Amino acid sequence: MKTPFSYWEDQFFARSWDVIIIGAGLIGMQSARFLLRNHPSLKVLILERGYLPHGASTRNAGFACFGSLSELIAHEEKEGTGPMMDLVRKRYNGLKLLRQTVPDDLMNYEELGGYELFTSADSEAWSDCQKQLTRYNDLMKPLTGLPATYRLVTEQASSFGFNGVTGLIQNQAEGQLDTGKLMHFLWMETTRSGAMILGGAPVQSVQSGVVTLSDGGRFYAGTILVTTNAFTRQLLPSLDVVPGRGQVLVTDPIPGLKVRGAFHYEDGYYYFRDVGGRLLLGGGRNLDFKAEETTDFALTDLVQNRLKHLLKSVILPGKEVTIGYQWSGIMAFGAEKAPIIAEVDRNVWVAVRMSGMGVAIGTGVAKEVTDLMKV
Ligand SMILES: Cc1cc2nc3c(=O)[nH]c(=O)nc-3n(C[C@H](O)[C@H](O)[C@H](O)COP(=O)(O)OP(=O)(O)OC[C@H]3O[C@@H](n4cnc5c(N)ncnc54)[C@H](O)[C@@H]3O)c2cc1C
Repeated sequence: MKTPFSYWEDQFFARSWDVIIIGAGLIGMQSARFLLRNHPSLKVLILERGYLPHGASTRNAGFACFGSLSELIAHEEKEGTGPMMDLVRKRYNGLKLLRQTVPDDLMNYEELGGYELFTSADSEAWSDCQKQLTRYNDLMKPLTGLPATYRLVTEQASSFGFNGVTGLIQNQAEGQLDTGKLMHFLWMETTRSGAMILGGAPVQSVQSGVVTLSDGGRFYAGTILVTTNAFTRQLLPSLDVVPGRGQVLVTDPIPGLKVRGAFHYEDGYYYFRDVGGRLLLGGGRNLDFKAEETTDFALTDLVQNRLKHLLKSVILPGKEVTIGYQWSGIMAFGAEKAPIIAEVDRNVWVAVRMSGMGVAIGTGVAKEVTDLMKV
């Protein structure tokens, strides 16, 4: 096949790699850093279809969270205590590893606590959580070292300015970070550690040893790692990876904003936090799961109107706010919540399906897959 490359491009840019990583999201870049930390002379190339990463890692909410109570109870009911705790451990340890590899001040990490709030519409979930709180604190103690990871703090609801909140639970060990700062740091550090990142490089197919771009250009490497998360089926259609769009809005600055911390609402389907004196609010996939099962980065009136309604009715009652930003990002789900970390062809590895919690588990996943790859 005719190559779009010149002789020079083909000889030097296309053929000199030990490892090619597809996707410059958090997992792709952390994987490159681990590989180069262990083998500094390795030649590592990251191929990213966007000029910026274009998936979830620059479009998320920046929650450094490992589990709100109602979400863990639902997970335990569905998959059992073992798988639920395995995932909690992956998130908790993943966050620890993230903080060992990115200094707190370079991603504005703040341990303000994670919260779950309940209104009269969630009375069943609220009552379940209260009943299970002591048992969950016992389950979490070996991990967090805290006698009470979860605490009932309903009396604090008014200090945040909420309306109609009948229950509030705090997870003391959770935090939040600045997603943009984190991803900017990772891009700079990945490059500094010796990897080359090529943006505007959409991969069309992957085979053992060869990666083909949509214009027919071919790149060659001994080992290939696919970290395309929600977009993986375009390359590897047999994997159980289903996209899930997440829509977000950020208000303009709000003088006297009382909300501080990372909050979950309605089984975690809504989440909000403060950022730079503004409020970030996202979620609403549960309003129409089928429509949100897409890789299309669009916004819908249904979800955006519901987010605005929540702002007015529960989170910032009586405040006139204007919206500064609205965007969407794409997550990856499947039958199980655990990520897929596997060799799918000879020396072709995948680390995908972060189930909407890649900030938490992503660095651990990158470490795990790069430890398994024989490079
Ligand atoms: C709205 C939203 C809020 C979220 N909030 C949180 C949160 O608060 N806390 C948390 O822990 N997690 C959160 N997440 C999830 C988290 O952001 C993701 O799990 C994580 O970023 C996934 O990282 P990744 O590197 O696997 O995938 P991505 O960041 O999606 O990276 C994959 C990359 O692959 C590239 N790519 C795809 N196909 C190709 C191709 N064919 N060729 C070349 N490049 C390709 C994409 O452009 C993309 O840059 C949220 C996600 C969303 C969408």
